[in-house]
Amino acid sequence: MPEMDSNEDKKMMAPPSPAKRRAIQLVDSIKKGLVVIGTALFIFVCARNSIHWHIQKFWGASGNFWQNCWQKIHVNVFGEDDLLIGVVGTLVVLISIFWLANIGLVILEVTGRPKALLKYKIQEDKNVPVDKEKLKKAVWLVIFNQTVIGIPFVCIAYYVMKWRGCTFRAEDLPTFHWTLCELIIFSLVEEVFFYYSHRLFHHRLIYKHIHKVHHEWTAPIGIISIYAHPVEHVFSNLIPPALGPIFMGSHLASAWLWFCIALLSTTVAHCGYHFPLLPSPEAHDYHHFKFTQNYGVLGVLDRLHGTDNQFRASKQYQRHVLLLSLAPLTEQIPDSPKKKPE
Ligand SMILES: [Zn+2]
Ligand SMILES: [Zn+2]
Repeated sequence: MPEMDSNEDKKMMAPPSPAKRRAIQLVDSIKKGLVVIGTALFIFVCARNSIHWHIQKFWGASGNFWQNCWQKIHVNVFGEDDLLIGVVGTLVVLISIFWLANIGLVILEVTGRPKALLKYKIQEDKNVPVDKEKLKKAVWLVIFNQTVIGIPFVCIAYYVMKWRGCTFRAEDLPTFHWTLCELIIFSLVEEVFFYYSHRLFHHRLIYKHIHKVHHEWTAPIGIISIYAHPVEHVFSNLIPPALGPIFMGSHLASAWLWFCIALLSTTVAHCGYHFPLLPSPEAHDYHHFKFTQNYGVLGVLDRLHGTDNQFRASKQYQRHVLLLSLAPLTEQIPDSPKKKPE
């Protein structure tokens, strides 16, 4: 008996093979995923009636409100001209939401004010101070992408949307539930097309010609979200988010809502600061820092392809959470002390 015990002990002590470790990690991830989904489902089922009632009250009662708003935009501002609202309206929405989100971040980078926000910086020693010439170059390429590339792209997308039967009228505005469904589908479509196009741009034969431009910033700032070679801008920044509304034949209002969410989310992902109550930018910041990790937006395909393994073993991954306090995560989870050179 004691011999058997020691054999058992040896078996227990032997480190698991890499394949077994990966299997254990996968089972562990699935378990964690099931716990999160199960808890969310449980809470949703318990609160379904009251959530539903509140949503209906808000959307139903204000249904006329949204319809009136869209009516005013469609009829009063654009004179019921689909081409005008589809092209000029979309460009105004895209460009203004981008600069509204980014102007404050650019001021923070250039002036270092408000000082209270500096403690949320992720790569604390980078861009201090920001290189003004590099920043100027970035602003010009962003404006080039928004105009010289963006205007023809939106014109083409308008005709494709029309051909797909996308609608622009106030009477056709989607319901709250359908809008929610569409947003989920849009983000999954974007994840697939962004992940694979991004990985392709990292191919050694293509990288130096195209994607290297975006990676000039190893510690990105907000506007770098669309600082990219024009070819990359079309294939990674414009086509993946546009495909969802085109596939679904969505209402223009749903498309605008989605483009705003996508632009704000990529700005946060590149901003270089992990602010309280905003989605964590750690994953994409790590992509700029390490180059070969975290290619996706949602992280689903990175998990599937194992392109987040280094990230998952890093301090940045431990900090990859929604910050719910005012204390920065670099203070709560500090870097390990660097080894002194011998
Ligand atoms: Zn990036
Ligand atoms: Zn990249």
